[in-house]
Amino acid sequence: MGTFKNFIGGKWVAPRTKKSFPNRNPADLTDIIGEFPASDGRDVDLAVAAAKEAYDGWRRTPAPKRGELILKVGQILTRRKEEIARAMTREMGKVLKETRGDVQEGIDTAVVHGSEGRRLHGFSAPSELPNKVGWTVRSPIGVAGLITPWNFPLAIPTWKSFPALVAGNTIVLKPASDTPHSSHLLVEAFEEAGLPPGVVNLVHGSGSSVGNAIVQHSDVRVISFTGSTAVGREISATAGKALKRVSLELGGKNAMIVMDDADLELAVEGVLWGAFGTTGQRCTATSRLILQKGIHDEMVRRLIGRVAALKIGPGLEEENEVGPLINKARVEAVDEYVRIGRKEGELVCGGEPLTTGVFKKGCFYAPTVFTGVKPTARIAREEIFGPVLSILAVKDLDEGIRCLNDTAYGLSSSIYTRDVNRAFTAMQELETGIVYVNAPTIGAECHYPFGGTKDTGNGHREGGTYPVYEVFTEWKTIYVDYSGSLQKAQIDNRKNE
Ligand code: NAD
Repeated sequence: MGTFKNFIGGKWVAPRTKKSFPNRNPADLTDIIGEFPASDGRDVDLAVAAAKEAYDGWRRTPAPKRGELILKVGQILTRRKEEIARAMTREMGKVLKETRGDVQEGIDTAVVHGSEGRRLHGFSAPSELPNKVGWTVRSPIGVAGLITPWNFPLAIPTWKSFPALVAGNTIVLKPASDTPHSSHLLVEAFEEAGLPPGVVNLVHGSGSSVGNAIVQHSDVRVISFTGSTAVGREISATAGKALKRVSLELGGKNAMIVMDDADLELAVEGVLWGAFGTTGQRCTATSRLILQKGIHDEMVRRLIGRVAALKIGPGLEEENEVGPLINKARVEAVDEYVRIGRKEGELVCGGEPLTTGVFKKGCFYAPTVFTGVKPTARIAREEIFGPVLSILAVKDLDEGIRCLNDTAYGLSSSIYTRDVNRAFTAMQELETGIVYVNAPTIGAECHYPFGGTKDTGNGHREGGTYPVYEVFTEWKTIYVDYSGSLQKAQIDNRKNE
């Protein structure tokens, strides 16, 4: 066990508060990974000041050079992939196969944004006046505040930090207090890659103290936040008053529709991965399964057998498929939803915390399935963020689409069908930012836009190249008039009318 520090102005420094909090392994709460800084607003002030000081030098560094440094970070992550994946499983719980994927997503993100340093395209268009040209460039905004959740402890910080940095911003990163170690390891990679002091800063601590101080700080001009809708609303209100740019990636209540004509075995595989991968703790998790009546009973029968056979246990043991929840508070929150669900549907699988034997010291919960759930039920409407699946029955595609769309969220959706007309109708009618056909609701790739509609966010997207640079850059429009005379737009080109 070690004592970890913040990273400010290129140095690892203890917090002004001199306080710390323990980071525990959710598969074994007696295993403490380390003590991390319980920082406060004073540490944020220092980090923002360092980021502000570094900004001019960084924004003047040519974007291809900034991109090269991000590519170098990606190479370091590649070299350290297995070590980081193991550390991530230890602090976050998800199984090794998934944490390797999380690190790989960071590496892929480095490849995308590292090379984006050689593009960062603006555009040109012909002027309406002779001997005059116009074009646009993307400019950085300044200091970016990045606030991240615990379920993708490496991938999400890279989704934000790599494009922010390639665009020429400097950053202050605040990771979730359940997963500070993964961000520590990422910042070690930034340090080894040789980013100038102050360009990347890391401040650990709680959301109410450190996160809030970042949002409030007048020198932080853009906030990128991933987390719950409730916190996103608060951040949006605070930052909105200060006219800061805010990108919000929030909650989800994703559903998969399975039609009578679907390949049921494929759909079972899909829902197992979508609902119980990452122990259901994905913003894109398949939380509702909407079955057409003709295949309902057969699908439920096949699914329950497979759910009951899932191997649950510590993620560091390769054979396990489902790890623990992130902490005891989540076990209680999931259990509360299961209590509610018992009144709203029929419990056909799981339904309790696992507390004996290998599970004794951890935060494990049995993968849980409810059938007979109505669209009005709380377990069909609210984000549970755990291994709980609600099954609803519908008569046809129209009802399935209505049912899927009947939620406050709009992140991801999926349909299993072999009928091309049904598939295209669903693509058109589903009100989510991401739609999958014959694949579960999870599985985003970093070079496509990622995000959702309705209460899932505020219209921005991460991922891709164009969408995320809309968050981290300002457009600058440049006109050059080489006519040698004063030309008046909208007026001089109408002289002869
Ligand atoms: P959370 O909102 O509790 O915390 C997210 C981050 O915000 C943490 O770093 C936290 O410390 C910080 N925070 C908390 N209160 C704050 C405040 N008042 N001001 C500033 N920062 C504050 O969310 P969580 O429990 O860490 O993550 C789970 C949630 O995240 C789920 O709702 C999930 O759907 C969502 N999520 C969304 C996406 C997406 O891309 N849409 C991805 C992953 C997770």
